[in-house]
Amino acid sequence: MNDFKRDGSHLSFAPPVEKWDDWVELDPQQWPRKVQRHFQIIPTICFNCESACGLLAYINKETGEIEKFEGNPKHPASRGRLCAKGPATINQIHDPDRILYPMKRVGPRGGGKWERVSWDEVLSTLGARMRKALQENRKNEIMYHVGRPGHDGVMDRILQAWGVDGHNSHTNVCSSSARLGYMLWHYADRPSPDHANARFILLLSAHLESGHYFNPHAQRIIEGKMAGAKLAVMDPRLSNTASMADYWLPTYPGTEAAVLLAMAKVILDENLFDAEFVKNWTNWQQLELEGFDGSFESAITALRKYYARFTPEFAEKESGVPAVNIVRIAREIAQAGSRFASHLWRGSASGNLGGWQTARALMLLHALTGSVGTEGGHNLNAWNKFVAKPFSSPPPQQEWNELLYPPEYPLAMHELSPLLPHFLKEGRGRIDTYFTRVFNPVWTYPDGFSWIEMLKDESKVGFHAALTPTWSETAWFADYVLPMGFSPERHDLMSQETHSGRWIGFRQPVMRVLRERKGEHFDYTYETNPGEVWEEDEFWINLSWAMDPDGSLGVRKWFESPYRPGQKLTTDDYYGWIFENSVPGLPAVAAKENLTPLEYMRKYGAFEVKGEMHRQNENPLAPADLENSAVQPNGTILKGGKTVGVLVGDKPVVGFNTPSRKLELFSQTMADWNWPEFALPEYYRSHIHRSAQAVSLGRSSEDFSPRHMPKVDWPEHARGDVYTLLPIFRLPNLIHTRSGNAKLLYEISHKNPLWLNSANAKRMGMRVGDLVKVHTEIGYFVLHAWVTEGLAPDVVACSHHLGRWHVNEDQQIERMSSAWVDLQQTGPGQWKMRQVQSVHPYKSADPDTQRVWWSDPGVHQNITFPVHPDPVSGMHCWHQMVRVEKAGSNDRYGDIFVDTNRSYAVYKNWLALTRPASGPLRRPLWFPRVIRPVDSAFYRK
Ligand code: SF4
Repeated sequence: MNDFKRDGSHLSFAPPVEKWDDWVELDPQQWPRKVQRHFQIIPTICFNCESACGLLAYINKETGEIEKFEGNPKHPASRGRLCAKGPATINQIHDPDRILYPMKRVGPRGGGKWERVSWDEVLSTLGARMRKALQENRKNEIMYHVGRPGHDGVMDRILQAWGVDGHNSHTNVCSSSARLGYMLWHYADRPSPDHANARFILLLSAHLESGHYFNPHAQRIIEGKMAGAKLAVMDPRLSNTASMADYWLPTYPGTEAAVLLAMAKVILDENLFDAEFVKNWTNWQQLELEGFDGSFESAITALRKYYARFTPEFAEKESGVPAVNIVRIAREIAQAGSRFASHLWRGSASGNLGGWQTARALMLLHALTGSVGTEGGHNLNAWNKFVAKPFSSPPPQQEWNELLYPPEYPLAMHELSPLLPHFLKEGRGRIDTYFTRVFNPVWTYPDGFSWIEMLKDESKVGFHAALTPTWSETAWFADYVLPMGFSPERHDLMSQETHSGRWIGFRQPVMRVLRERKGEHFDYTYETNPGEVWEEDEFWINLSWAMDPDGSLGVRKWFESPYRPGQKLTTDDYYGWIFENSVPGLPAVAAKENLTPLEYMRKYGAFEVKGEMHRQNENPLAPADLENSAVQPNGTILKGGKTVGVLVGDKPVVGFNTPSRKLELFSQTMADWNWPEFALPEYYRSHIHRSAQAVSLGRSSEDFSPRHMPKVDWPEHARGDVYTLLPIFRLPNLIHTRSGNAKLLYEISHKNPLWLNSANAKRMGMRVGDLVKVHTEIGYFVLHAWVTEGLAPDVVACSHHLGRWHVNEDQQIERMSSAWVDLQQTGPGQWKMRQVQSVHPYKSADPDTQRVWWSDPGVHQNITFPVHPDPVSGMHCWHQMVRVEKAGSNDRYGDIFVDTNRSYAVYKNWLALTRPASGPLRRPLWFPRVIRPVDSAFYRK
């Protein structure tokens, strides 16, 4: 608190660090009396999306309670700013329905009966199972499946210490298609755009308001815009982001690559490209195009000829975006040159068959404009994200788990996790011990009823432990529900490529930090958290000791202190060692304040790691790398059988981490792995293209896809007009399945109506609030219509955030966000859900729950979608071809029906599109894997 001054100079953006030990504010509830409240402020890192913004926890010194969270001004990425979800952490930790103790199932799995157990019992039960699996060489039967990660490097170390190939992720329902597109160009699987210094920014998403790193990015996009950058947004939906843009390009879904390639054609034809960059930094020499004679000039001519099909008029016909706008934006992008920044993560890439080509087409614009590695341009995530090394690292696992990377998908970027229920149904394997971590596939994934069938079957999943901070539809089908901490209740390291800079953030349990500062000692964080909410670091360390109490399995040694040989590792040991040894510059900066590096990080919560951010591909090769190396005919530099760099002109430089060490305009990998038609950035029609809709109705027999997509086989009951459903847009203030009882957030958003373009609504005789029935290939869902001009015609949309449910009346649920439903299996694979009771006010420890004024929890659409695995990237292609009709007299809001027999049939149809590897290799050796096994595991035995 400061004295009031008329000029406002008493106001501050955030409390200065020197006042964090005793920050004084007036109690707003006592106004006009001036009653002071004293706070201890301790930093941590937000856990509510992947951005990892800095939070400050305000702990009331009188009550000892955390009262609120605000932004940490010392955090280099978020710089004191947060979105609505950061401060809502306070609701999560005080949620009266949260899980406070470990729970064990009583009765059948999914029966809804639980009893409290001790952490000791949990550790000994799980430890014994896992020890047995390792001893019996059933290593691939241990699986860890992560929803929200957010702890750089920790699980790699743990799973490799166990020697299992057991890391499964949610990434194939999230971002793996875009990642494949980027990876094929430059190995790094995502962009790090320098928005703040750009002159033209192209977003293929609602990125200003939601999406990957959107708060740190949004700040810099607006900075760029304020400095004069133009902003274009390609999105079928008029999002808040599109409303801020200079150009809104409402593409028909799945046609974005056609528009981008048309822009590339304009830049090529009008000679607006950066010839020197293209010549030096793309692998044009590898082109296999008619007329290419080895010269750069003929390469450009051949490219012009190859992309001649992509006239702006063709792109207009495909996308609905006027050709004149395509030409205009192409010229503006070319004018921005090396200061052209863009972002693509989900949206087009995640929605469509072949969505990974959208990223490839986008990268073609960057290659042509020379905006890779530049200030104001597209940089590589690996150049900005800083992952610190721990004190020891176990060797890579020897195993290859085909439940994760099956032979049909040799180029899949990530684990084929949406197919897990089908793989187990087919007898491809079994899981003995299954950990789900902040992961709710029954609700977030397509085909959730197949997940229920899998989880209920103990012959397929021997034991399921759900590590989760909140109740979820998936935790309901667990054997143990293990409460894990939110952001102020746990340790983690986080770093992201949020801007042109590098940093590391420290998530920490703030009550433990406070009490230890006062001289108390705790063995475990759950001693200072609500109930017995634990943190995973300590859980995994103790579980590893329980698996291998005498060290005979070789597991325990990885979880012993680097400072006290033979003794159990602590979080202070683990993070203290990293801060002392692995973060350049931190020890010296800490020493200036007479702090140890760990004390410094506990005080500030984040540290900026200095270093060069741009043009790292141009770094000269170190003399040691040049020693005994040999330059190959294609200019790559080989040493010890590995490519270490490339000659650019006569300079040996590190280049990119691709086989050619250049940006791979031409992908020999695609050609070699049975997809020669996609060796160059291409466009092909998505599974929801208009022509596919006509085929589905029998009105056309046009062969719309390169692999003869199977015709959609509508269920008999499906009626109504055919549309493309966009089911993946985020509401900016909701957090997948963790915001259920965040009252600040649910009060703002709690419905997910079906967006209908006004012209389509008129044709169908629909008005706002009408009940509509949406048929998918495997079932239907019933919800309200919302009519809008802010959506491309012939497209419908529904946010994926809402429609939570619970099957019991009043326990183990998040009552502010979910409906009580009657869930019935009426026959083999026949599932029906009907809402029994909606959200309503209720009594709890929080008086605000009696003030809940909303009743609509939304409708669960994902569960009515079949899986659509892209045959190349493995990504679930989220967009759906649906039929929409007015609901009938027997239909009620929230009704859902699904036939999992049909979902299995659709899975088989998509599986038939794949082109399995034919040689000894399971996957290109240069391709990454999330936790990479030894190279020999890449070969079939
Ligand atoms: S963007 Fe919002 S939810 Fe994500 S880390 Fe930042 S404050 Fe938290």
